[in-house]
Amino acid sequence: MATDIRKGSGPGSWRPVRGGSSARLTCPRCGHDAEVDQAIRWDGTLVQRLACPASCGFDEYVRLLGWRELQISAIVDARLSWRV
Ligand SMILES: [Zn+2]
Repeated sequence: MATDIRKGSGPGSWRPVRGGSSARLTCPRCGHDAEVDQAIRWDGTLVQRLACPASCGFDEYVRLLGWRELQISAIVDARLSWRV
């Protein structure tokens, strides 16, 4: 059972970084903002439990909502650029 993290801003949200290959996440509990330091699966779930670097006690499996759609749009953009 994973905690869903929405795309956006504020506590409990994530934003794409490094051209969409990684994400920054704001802790749902304390608001600490940090880049995810582990692999993100195609469906947006993280491979390991995510422990807040600020040691607030948040330590759960999480899923980034909208991650799959971001990966799909990156593939579509790449294909469009090949036509040039
Ligand atoms: Zn935290």
